[in-house]
Amino acid sequence: MGVADSSVQARIGHETQLDAERLWTDILDYVRPRVSREGFDTWLAPTKGCKLSNGTLEVEVPNSFFADWLSQHYSAEVRAALSGVSQQELSVSFRPRDAVDTGVLIRRAPVRRPTTKQDGHRLQPHLSFANFVVGESNRFAVAAARSVAERPGANYNPLFIYGGVGLGKTHLAQAIGNLALAAKPGLKVYYTAADDLFLELILAIEKNTRLEFKNKYRGLDLLVLDDIHYLVGKERLQEEVFYIFNSLHDAGSQIVFTSDRPPQDIPALEGRLASRLGSGLVVDIQPPELETRIAILKQKAAMDRADLPDNVAYFIAARVRTSVRALEGSWVRLLALASLDGHPITVRLAEEALKDLVREEEPFDHNRIIKTCAEHFGVTVREITNGGRTKQLALARQVAMYVLRSTLSLSLKEIGGLFGNKDHTTVMHAVKRVGDLRIKDPAFASRLEKLTKEISRGEPR
Ligand code: ADP
Ligand code: MG
Repeated sequence: MGVADSSVQARIGHETQLDAERLWTDILDYVRPRVSREGFDTWLAPTKGCKLSNGTLEVEVPNSFFADWLSQHYSAEVRAALSGVSQQELSVSFRPRDAVDTGVLIRRAPVRRPTTKQDGHRLQPHLSFANFVVGESNRFAVAAARSVAERPGANYNPLFIYGGVGLGKTHLAQAIGNLALAAKPGLKVYYTAADDLFLELILAIEKNTRLEFKNKYRGLDLLVLDDIHYLVGKERLQEEVFYIFNSLHDAGSQIVFTSDRPPQDIPALEGRLASRLGSGLVVDIQPPELETRIAILKQKAAMDRADLPDNVAYFIAARVRTSVRALEGSWVRLLALASLDGHPITVRLAEEALKDLVREEEPFDHNRIIKTCAEHFGVTVREITNGGRTKQLALARQVAMYVLRSTLSLSLKEIGGLFGNKDHTTVMHAVKRVGDLRIKDPAFASRLEKLTKEISRGEPR
């Protein structure tokens, strides 16, 4: 959390463009880790601080649609950022660039293809009930899911599945779609995640195809809407989801939601679904207990046609407790190690395979970030933190500062403190320089991405 930075305050009042630019960059760096990546890239990345005067920071945005969207959807984050970087009263105003540029949104929208009817149901066949290991932690959820898949629209509608990251929500929700479709091949089933729905909506608004968008959803028999916690704070998307939900529900079609939290923790949603959640069912998936973790490992091994001895399965399951995804990750690593050198799968080899993983499960703190950056550039932690001045050291240091900022959201001052009390402006320049390099130089960008992945668990979403 950004500690108030007195030097940033002192700067306020200098009505230069540079200050406005820097202050906004600072604010964006604060906001970035707190919003979705798509959201950030779509709405915040194309903005620029352009003027700072009388306590107002003017931010240039591509058009008036952006201005409205930003103030409706990101004002809370921006406000929090403002109090993070400055104690002084400050406000932000979004100023549309006054060119004729209605195409901006389309150009900026990520290159992911919009989902259309021809894309099919978007189910992955391997995410089936057959491949889903049942244990105490998910027994009830699986039973409910099966019953919904067997008679969509008839039993529990909507079915709301919630649970932590990597515990099998997407798998189970997809399994419902797969089973329902297998039972009734003509069924109109569709899977989408809330963030994809959001992109689709943006495109529909831009291209004036709202009607097609609505019709596509209205005609479904079974809709699986994954990760709806993404709706939090997105009024417009919420509207759209309610519309879709209501028309499907009225038509007796089945809806399956997944979320990382229960409905009552998505207040806007619960308020409006309340009466209808009554006709549905809310189930949760808990982290798997030891026996289930062992069974999952054994199942993965069987799917890979590999022999996993009981004692090795136990060894891994006892250590990797956080999520099924992490469990899968460790199995994949172990299998890779074994097949690389033709070793048998033993506890010793598992120990070797888990070495990195255990490191990943350590709390990820600033020391580790600096150490990893230093290793990455082939320099020592001392050299980075004690102000050596070679080009290589300077870059390593700037990258470390950037990563600290973007992953831990430390304040400029706190970061400066880790590098022999560097001034906050030095840190700010470092962050900006690395940010610029990242945009200009794709090789650098991918190197940075690799480094960040290495630092932050490295687990795919
Ligand atoms: P979530 O959507 O909750 O984040 P996923 O459904 O993507 O999690 O699950 C993460 C990985 O773990 C997937 O590869 C999934 O197949 C696997 N997985 C999760 N739970 C189970 C289970 N009970 N049995 C087998 N595999 C599972
Ligand atoms: Mg998921």
